[in-house]
Parts: sequence; C-alpha cells; structure tokens
Amino acid sequence: MSSVPVAVVTGSNKGIGLAIVRALCKQFPGDVYLTSRDPGRGQAAVTQLQQEGLRPLFHQLDIDDLQSIRALRDFLKEKYGGLDVLVNNAGIAFKVHDTTPFAVQAEVTLKTNFFGTRNVCTELLPLMKPYGRVVNVSSMVSSSALRGCSQELQQKFRSDTITEEELVQLMTKFVEDTKKSIHQKEGWPNTAYGVSKIGVTVLSRIQARLLNEQRKGEHILLNACCPGWVRTDMAGPKATKSPEEGAETPVYLALLPSTADAPHGQFVSDKTVRPW
Ligand code: NAP
Repeated sequence: MSSVPVAVVTGSNKGIGLAIVRALCKQFPGDVYLTSRDPGRGQAAVTQLQQEGLRPLFHQLDIDDLQSIRALRDFLKEKYGGLDVLVNNAGIAFKVHDTTPFAVQAEVTLKTNFFGTRNVCTELLPLMKPYGRVVNVSSMVSSSALRGCSQELQQKFRSDTITEEELVQLMTKFVEDTKKSIHQKEGWPNTAYGVSKIGVTVLSRIQARLLNEQRKGEHILLNACCPGWVRTDMAGPKATKSPEEGAETPVYLALLPSTADAPHGQFVSDKTVRPW
C-alpha cells in the first residue's frame, strides 16, 4: 500500500475540474487523480496535462453510476488505504433556452448534481484520512435560489439540525412537484440547477456537522464553494473568469494547511466565507 497522499477531482476532463487538477499537480504533494465518466475524454485530458509537463493519474468515475463510484472507492482503499483530498466538481446544467420539459430537467439535474454528489460522499467520505480536505463545488446560484424559496423551505435549508434524510426527502419532493407542475405552489423557485445546488450546499453543512460529531479530532475540513462565473462549456465564453481563476477557491479549500481549523461547513466564494 502506498503512503503517498492522494487527491481525487470528479468531472475533471475539462472546465474547472481540469483546471483544479492542473493546479493540484503543481501544488499538492502527492498523487492527483483526474477522473472522467468517459475514459477517452479522460485520457485526452491527461495527455494534455502531460504535454504541459505535469503527471496526473487517471481513474474512470461516473457519479451517476454507483458501481463506478464503488470501483474507485475499492481502488483507493487498496492502493492508498484512504483519501486525502476530494473535490466534488462534476456537475451539469441545461442551457437557458433548452426546450426539454422542466420536470425532465429537474430529474436529470438533481440526479447528477445532488444525488450523484451525495453518493460519492457516502462512499468516499469514510475513506478520508485525518487532515483530509473535502470541497463540494456548489454555486452562488444556490444562494439566490434559496432566497427564491418559501419562508418555510428557507428555514429548513438554513436549519442547523436538518438531517441528510430530510434533505434527500426535500430534493425528491422537488422533482416530484415538478412532475405535477406544482413546484412553485409548493414554494420552490423555478430553477432546477439552483435547487440542485441548494442541495449541494446544505449537504455540505450537514456533512461538516457529522464530521464534528463522529470524527472529532481528525481535523478533516469540508466546505462548499462557488468558483465564480467561469468560461467553460457550461457557462459559455462571456463568463468573467478563466478556468484557472475559477479553480482558485476550490484549490485553496483543498489545500488548507494542517494547522487550519477553519473554514469548515461553510459556503465560500473568492476565498471568503459567505452567509447562508
Ligand atoms: P463543464 O465544463 O460542463 O464540466 C463539467 C464536468 O463535469 C465535465 O468534465 C463533465 O464530464 C463532468 N460530469 C458531468 N456529469 C458527470 C457525471 N455523471 N459523472 C462524472 N462527471 C460528470 O462545467 P464547469 O463550468 O467546469 O463546471 C464544474 C462545476 O462548477 C460544476 O459543478 C458546476 O455546476 C460548477 N459551477 C460552474 C460555474 C461556471 O460559471 N462555469 C459557476 C458555478 C458553479 P463530460 O465531459 O463527460 O460531460
């Protein structure tokens, strides 16, 4: 078993994820895994970084596929005996003018952004080593979507006692409500991406709390963040930040020094803790 520290970035064959891998290859003192659901796209990204003189490793990972997540889990357990840095970056967004029915957009978006990210956490968080760092890439859109929720929902999503099961029930209810076209009547905002990212931010708050309760003394720090508005296939060419600039806050959180005890359980953008 290798004692080398190990970092994994989900959805890192392009965009912000690729920029996070590039930065970690330069700054993280250990093995860095670029992961992709498609091995061809993943290998092409690895080759690109190799041409820049960097040495990322590759593992397949489709966060929609529990078997794929468990294969990575077993690999990490066997080869490294755990995990030091996990960046949950993989995500999807329908384009604004996409004509796919809203209920389908809701189901598909929540499946990857919330349920896929949660499944990765369920399988990989138990592997986190002491002083591990977990970064869940959410979005500022989670904050604006939260403000678009009914007071009752806002209270639930801001609660310091909400459980993961309650959050899953709420995310499931959103998808069901869109199918019945009653989501707005039920207090939801009209954004599937926004609700999926509320899920990611609230999940991060819950997981940080659980780490405090169950793994006190292990110094693991877990945060949600927004990379900013970044020029990628998702956000388009008009966005204000380059992928490298978008990677800065996730990389800052992934590399918080072992002496740090904060931020933890926070929502962070531009390396600054934001109110939730
Ligand atoms: P992007 O260029 O579209 O890249 C998304 C990455 O996620 C791709 O590598 C994609 O792989 C991967 N992915 C999607 N579904 C996956 C799955 N089921 N399993 C594994 N990988 C999957 O988007 P981006 O702008 O870099 O976004 C990265 C993260 O930042 C996302 O979570 C996004 O919501 C968040 N974010 C972005 C912005 C922005 O302005 N760009 C702002 C706020 C937050 P494929 O190539 O196979 O599709």
